Amino acid sequence: MKTISVVIPAYNEASNIEAVFCKVRHVFDSLADYAFEVIFVNDGSSDGSGHMLQKLAAENTAVKYIEFSRNFGHQLALKAGMDHASGDAVISMDCDMQHPPEMIGQMIAEWEQGYDIVFTLRSYAKKAPRFKRCSSRFYYKFINTISDVKIEEGSADFRLLDRSVVNVLNNIEDKEPFLRGLTRWVGFSQKAIYYTADERFSGESKYSLKKMLRLAMTGITSFSTKPLHIAVYLGFFFAAMSLLYIPYVIWSFVYDVEISGWASLIMTIVFFGGLQLVILGILGIYIGKIFKQTKNRPAYIIKNKNF
Ligand code: UDP
Ligand code: MG
Repeated sequence: MKTISVVIPAYNEASNIEAVFCKVRHVFDSLADYAFEVIFVNDGSSDGSGHMLQKLAAENTAVKYIEFSRNFGHQLALKAGMDHASGDAVISMDCDMQHPPEMIGQMIAEWEQGYDIVFTLRSYAKKAPRFKRCSSRFYYKFINTISDVKIEEGSADFRLLDRSVVNVLNNIEDKEPFLRGLTRWVGFSQKAIYYTADERFSGESKYSLKKMLRLAMTGITSFSTKPLHIAVYLGFFFAAMSLLYIPYVIWSFVYDVEISGWASLIMTIVFFGGLQLVILGILGIYIGKIFKQTKNRPAYIIKNKNF
């Protein structure tokens, strides 16, 4: 009998945990040929999610939980769940029913057809916040122009991975994993399926704007060095422009032509000052990534787990 591990990161999801588990269990009731385990990763919740998980685990042997020592973020919670999963396939999904558990059956069916990765593409329900829909669309357009892996618009961390893929991912020591990119980057045979994301079952989005921007940045810097190339091209471009300008300045000296230009001077200084800071910042982001990686601290810390 094959086992499926369902990995669910939870950050302050006390009001969702039980409902999500019941739904998943219900789905597996109709998939009698498979055993399942649900691994909840409590990402430093402060709302009683921990108690909720202990209670649920005491009542159901299929419930496993991992408790982080603090909030490490969604991506690392997923990574921890995958590191500890024992199934022949691992399904990751959110703890808010925006990823419909009913899709699990279809995912397993595609996996049985021989696909190693079954990933999902979301279209937002009309009710979803306009900002979220637009920013997500823009982001995927942008990341696909700039990075070396193709990440489809509407990608989310709702996917099935075969054991062989999970083993590969578990051996990747990335302190800031971006799983939407990594799972495309590893290759294997992949299949997309589609769904519409509903509203959250309960509670509010746990992705603050800050967390969203950080994830977006990680996505770009993990799979591309193009921002650095762009800096070099810009440098060459403006250096070439200055070569055109220098003869003009010399000419004005020779013929004693007075050039007035306070405004243009200030604009040039401000513009290039800004541009240099931006480029320094881009360099800094990559150096920061090297720093994080070389310190070699564990990517996440587990306080407690029940298996
Ligand atoms: N999450 C987490 N740690 C965080 C933020 C979010 O584990 O720091 C979990 C959250 O509990 C949920 C999933 O990641 O299961 C996706 O978050 P959310 O639904 O808030 O994001 P959205 O769907 O709004 O993009
Ligand atoms: Mg959600």
